[in-house]
Amino acid sequence: MVGSSSRPLEILAMTSEDSFQSLRDGVRSVVSQFDSRYWQEVDEARAFPEKFVTALTQAGWLSALIPEEYGGSNLSLTEASVIMEEINRAGGNSGACHGQMYVMGCVVRHGSKAQKEALLPRIASGELRMQSMAVTEPTTGSDTTRLKTMAVRKGDRYVVNGQKVWTSRLQHSDYMLLLARTTPLAEVKKRSEGLSVFLVDLRECVGKSITVRPIRNMVNHETNEIFIDNLEIPVENRIGEEGQGLKYILDGLNAERILIAAECIGDGYWFIDKARDYANGRRVFDRPIAQNQGVQFPIARAFVNVEAASLMRYEATRLFDAQQPCGAQANMSKLLAADASWEAANVCLQTHGGFGFAAEYDIERKFRETRLYQVAPISTNLILSYVGEHVLGMPKSY
Ligand SMILES: Cc1cc2nc3c(=O)[nH]c(=O)nc-3n(C[C@H](O)[C@H](O)[C@H](O)COP(=O)(O)OP(=O)(O)OC[C@H]3O[C@@H](n4cnc5c(N)ncnc54)[C@H](O)[C@@H]3O)c2cc1C
Repeated sequence: MVGSSSRPLEILAMTSEDSFQSLRDGVRSVVSQFDSRYWQEVDEARAFPEKFVTALTQAGWLSALIPEEYGGSNLSLTEASVIMEEINRAGGNSGACHGQMYVMGCVVRHGSKAQKEALLPRIASGELRMQSMAVTEPTTGSDTTRLKTMAVRKGDRYVVNGQKVWTSRLQHSDYMLLLARTTPLAEVKKRSEGLSVFLVDLRECVGKSITVRPIRNMVNHETNEIFIDNLEIPVENRIGEEGQGLKYILDGLNAERILIAAECIGDGYWFIDKARDYANGRRVFDRPIAQNQGVQFPIARAFVNVEAASLMRYEATRLFDAQQPCGAQANMSKLLAADASWEAANVCLQTHGGFGFAAEYDIERKFRETRLYQVAPISTNLILSYVGEHVLGMPKSY
């Protein structure tokens, strides 16, 4: 291995690094138990990083946003974002576990007392996993209000039929959130109405009314196509009011965007750290390659962009934690962070020359992982259309 030291970056005073040092140390002490070899083996086997997710859950990091009365630690979103950042920055992959941190937010904000009492303490303790959310459908994609999965009320149950795609972590969840139409699109005044959100107990229906087809994909990300055939859901498993489900899902998206931005920021620092160390250690033409401006400047530029994205993340979390509107900042931080981590990934790969392609350096794996965030959970174009319309007052572009 050439230049493989993992000395952390020192130059991070701008992003309030010090105020979260104990949080970072705590997360890192868990993540550091899972070394490079662990991630390579999981990636090669296309396996779920079960031990890693269990260790983070048992240490309490994934229940950060659950209120204390339900067994969580009730941390701020700022702190939760630092947890996600640090997981990726320490070489882990939050993509395997971020659902456990935020999917339950829908229950916290809109669930009934009975739903909260039944689920949240058991999610906090790790007894139950609810890391799966089925929104996207194969034929309608980003145009969520046109989704076709229908839930028809029959007495004290809903009967659901339809299809979902990219339903992640389903095979490692006990419960899943499901968004389905309860009133046909033709019968609602606004397209965003008539959708409802349900808690699905996967232990009862997978292999019966839900057929799961795993999707082999570019990242080692457990994700699936699912076929729903006469799935019966008790009425008490509907979250909130019938017809208001999209509002509840959208309500959680700012937190999701910010947490994923933080993961990208963690990736960005990881890539820059690796690129800097390798460039300083690798000698070609009798000098370190970092001495060449053509190598050094792209690393410096990528660092500047990760720092800027991190500041936007902190602005978004500040507003979120103060219960101020933060849609613009949440979206902008997701866009900036996804772009910055992708730039840092590219620079890191380039800096390593051929070695960047060798699996043992972890770069090609992280490169694949961070590319996802240009597309999911919301694509860059859809963020730009949000900013164009809602921040800049231009016409809706779709
Ligand atoms: C690994 C992975 C995991 C995922 N996990 C989940 C999950 O757990 N749950 C879930 O519900 N979904 C999940 N998704 C789905 C993800 O949220 C969608 O892929 C994403 O929202 C984009 O939707 P789409 O793939 O249907 O693309 P489309 O909507 O078909 O868009 C395709 C391209 O066209 C662009 N585009 C579309 N319309 C416009 C427009 N009007 N203007 C400009 N550009 C436009 C988009 O930006 C995109 O680049 C996952 C996806 C992946 C790849």
